[in-house]
Amino acid sequence: MQSITILGSTGSIGLSTLDVVARHPDRYQVYALTAHSKVDELAAQCVRFRPQVAVVGSAEGAARLTQLLRGQGVATEVGHGEQALCAVSAAPECTTVMAAIVGAAGLRPTLAAAVAGKKVLLANKEALVISGALFMDAIAASGATLLPIDSEHNAIFQCLPLDYRRAPQHHGIRKILLTASGGPFLNRDVSTLGDVTPEQAVAHPNWSMGRKISVDSATMMNKGLEVIEAHWLFGAPPEQIEVVIHPQSVIHSMVSYADGSVLAQLGNPDMRTPIAHALAYPERIDAGVDPIDLARIGQLDFRKPDVERFPCLRIAFEALHAGGSAAAVMNAANEVAVEAFLDRQVGFRRIPELIAQVLDRVPQAPVDGLDSLLAQDQRARRCARELLVA
Ligand code: NAD
Ligand code: MG
Repeated sequence: MQSITILGSTGSIGLSTLDVVARHPDRYQVYALTAHSKVDELAAQCVRFRPQVAVVGSAEGAARLTQLLRGQGVATEVGHGEQALCAVSAAPECTTVMAAIVGAAGLRPTLAAAVAGKKVLLANKEALVISGALFMDAIAASGATLLPIDSEHNAIFQCLPLDYRRAPQHHGIRKILLTASGGPFLNRDVSTLGDVTPEQAVAHPNWSMGRKISVDSATMMNKGLEVIEAHWLFGAPPEQIEVVIHPQSVIHSMVSYADGSVLAQLGNPDMRTPIAHALAYPERIDAGVDPIDLARIGQLDFRKPDVERFPCLRIAFEALHAGGSAAAVMNAANEVAVEAFLDRQVGFRRIPELIAQVLDRVPQAPVDGLDSLLAQDQRARRCARELLVA
């Protein structure tokens, strides 16, 4: 029986995880659930799944959650704040951590799971983008199992040899082919991109996701983050990672081998597939997802990404090449820019512009641990906010 902590249980990935967990009560029990501010939703989840612990963002939220739970006769222990998140990640009662907080906020709790040697199911790509080598070292040192939830990386994982050791050259791998839908603005006239609204940006053609990752998909910063994520997960140099636009989102990614073979993983765009895959790995379980109907899909299209339309993709490759703290700075600037766009403070085109400006202004700093990375993250956020009001 796996005992699971779901970091970010009220989010899109959190909900899909609970859906899969609920289908297999003989395999999975919930140890802890966490949410930032959706206290009512979290309370309802606690009533249904009866976790031992629940964590929210603030003391007031915790007081309200406690009141709601006691009113329903639920004994779940309630905590709040980052320390409580790290504690439920590392708790001895927990075997498996679904890291599904969005953004840098998930870094410490996700790292805590890695350090504690848990089975870590990684959705929170920003955590890995920021902490890269540090995170992978923590996984190796503790003997934790790291399984990718991001659909592309989960697909790649499924197309790699079972004994894969984070070195493509040792396995006859030519390239990792990351597929990208291109988001809602793939075919929109570039000259009108300045006018798009947050509502249009979050309306992804194939996937239903949280707001931040939906905007990232529209700018293709999501694919940029995923290139960096693939670099760390699979030990692949930037030259061996190629982005391919595939608007149908049926192929979730591919691995190209020296003998000319290209292996792909296909499926409906439903995150319950990678979630179920990682939860049950190496077994296979029902995820509640229908098989694809190839005849109905009819056609699969591919094309090269256009970096003029999607400058974030180029910025991410450059940050990966630059190394050091560049990816952490890029990620922080992106988080501030996306929030400002969603708040209607800036237009869509300002997102890549702001990230590039922050990368120009915040100098590289030596990365000698988590504190130095988080200091760079804070510097980048301050710089981005100053540029926003300038
Ligand atoms: P979401 O916005 O729907 O949910 C985010 C969750 O994180 C919520 O439970 C929220 O309460 C929690 N949270 C937000 N801010 C927090 C904070 N400061 N402290 C603690 N908790 C906080 O996001 P999502 O779409 O579920 O994405 C979660 C992560 O998974 C992201 O890193 C995203 O890139 C990744 N991911 C998502 C999808 C998807 O289909 N949604 C696919 C691949 C990867
Ligand atoms: Mg993805």
